[in-house]
Amino acid sequence: MPEYEAVIGLEVHVQLKTASKMFTDAPTGFGRPPNSITNAVVMGMPGTLPVLNKGAIEQAIRVGLIFGSKIPEVFKWDRKNYFYPDSPKNYQLTQMDAPVCVGGQVEIELAGPSRNLMGEHKIIHLDHAHLEEDVGKLTHFSKDSLVDYNRAGTPLLEIVTKPDLHSAEEAVALLQSIRMHLVAAGVSDCDMEKGQMRCDANVSVRPIGQSTLNPRAEMKNLNSITGVKHAINYEIGRQSRVYDKGGTVTQETRRWDADLGRTSSMRSKEEAHDYRYFPDPDLLPVHFPRDRIDELKEGLPEGVFVRQRRYEAQYGLPYTVTSVICYDHELTIFFETGMVEYGKNPKTLANYIANELQRERSQAEGDGNLPMADVLLSPEALARMVQLIDAGKLTKYLARDVFVDMFNTGKEAQTIMDEKGIKVEEPDAGELEQWCRDAVAGNPVAAQQFREGNDKAINSYMGPVMKASRGKANPQTVREMLIRIIGET
Ligand code: ADP
Ligand code: MG
Repeated sequence: MPEYEAVIGLEVHVQLKTASKMFTDAPTGFGRPPNSITNAVVMGMPGTLPVLNKGAIEQAIRVGLIFGSKIPEVFKWDRKNYFYPDSPKNYQLTQMDAPVCVGGQVEIELAGPSRNLMGEHKIIHLDHAHLEEDVGKLTHFSKDSLVDYNRAGTPLLEIVTKPDLHSAEEAVALLQSIRMHLVAAGVSDCDMEKGQMRCDANVSVRPIGQSTLNPRAEMKNLNSITGVKHAINYEIGRQSRVYDKGGTVTQETRRWDADLGRTSSMRSKEEAHDYRYFPDPDLLPVHFPRDRIDELKEGLPEGVFVRQRRYEAQYGLPYTVTSVICYDHELTIFFETGMVEYGKNPKTLANYIANELQRERSQAEGDGNLPMADVLLSPEALARMVQLIDAGKLTKYLARDVFVDMFNTGKEAQTIMDEKGIKVEEPDAGELEQWCRDAVAGNPVAAQQFREGNDKAINSYMGPVMKASRGKANPQTVREMLIRIIGET
């Protein structure tokens, strides 16, 4: 039996964040009463005309700029004609052959050997991204169905990759990378549970070494990360077994059934001519001003992985910390706002965000992490707490409880310290000296290493001495005293 290689291309649909719909001023929104945010244009009433939403186009262009796509001089709108009850107009406005973004590439990260280690990075090429309008939502019952047109007409960007992916893990990493970048840029919330991000997965397998592509199955409307992963893995297995038995795979559209954990044939692949595409007569081709594109580019945040590499190089932050902060745009903003307040100790600030803040959020009441919007602790207050530590007015030991109080109340570290009488009490110098001497006597090897030029060796005494002082000693004083004692002996 030959060994197979999977070949996968994704069509990722993301709802763009805009106040109103793609071609009319009806508002966008999730969770509203059914059919409450529609109007005559959304409902395709005779005599209505579409009006282009400039904000949606700018959001789409931002996506292209984030991923290095070319924004063509002109793009246009086509009607894709089909009847289905979720689309009241009988056609969908889309871009068939002149999309808003052409080409581009997305950097992805595959999981590392452990959570603490950086994974492999790859580049996945994009074919294009085109704008279209979302359709309504059908809910089927045993005898009848309900339709809600609230979602109909919402701007939807379809990002189409080249068949560059070779495993379910890579497909998931692509979705995660797209989500991180788009959320950071404020282009989309990409919440799969709210249907703001969905994807069609095209999967084929071929014997390793073959360069031509085999026929593919397209699985429509996968709406969760686990769905994407399981559907792709199932399909790779199914097609491999077909080939093993000497059969052929035909190009078709398949449905993923999450309950049964398998795909089943829906229909043979439709062809473009089935949709009788033609340019929409009511919408002119768009010549988007080049200087506005430059402005949009200026306004974009730094790329997620670019920023991560910069934090590692510029601040010496470890992967364990950057992979928490940089992969969550709200934490990035928290960190950078804190840095503006007090930028002298990025490592300590970042550590409190990636560890203590995340721990308290995960332990807060309610399900899931406490949303950042509900966090009482401000980045400025945290930065000032770090400043107190650096000034020797607070120790990391004492800061453990102070931090939790700050998180729970939103108060300043200094206020909490005043209220609770927390202060760094310099232990009696004689007592401190005794602890230092005990520590050095207990580990003569480290002292020797320090004398031989290994400055870090002194750190092995810091813990025991700080512990003996119950966190009250000033680390700087302890360090100086240790250096003196080691020099004497
Ligand atoms: P269509 O015209 O049917 O939409 P496209 O050529 O635009 O097909 O491709 C749609 C998606 O399918 C793209 O993401 C592409 O990378 C992927 N794709 C195309 N051919 C294959 C194949 N043989 N195996 C896996 N994915 C494929
Ligand atoms: Mg296509």
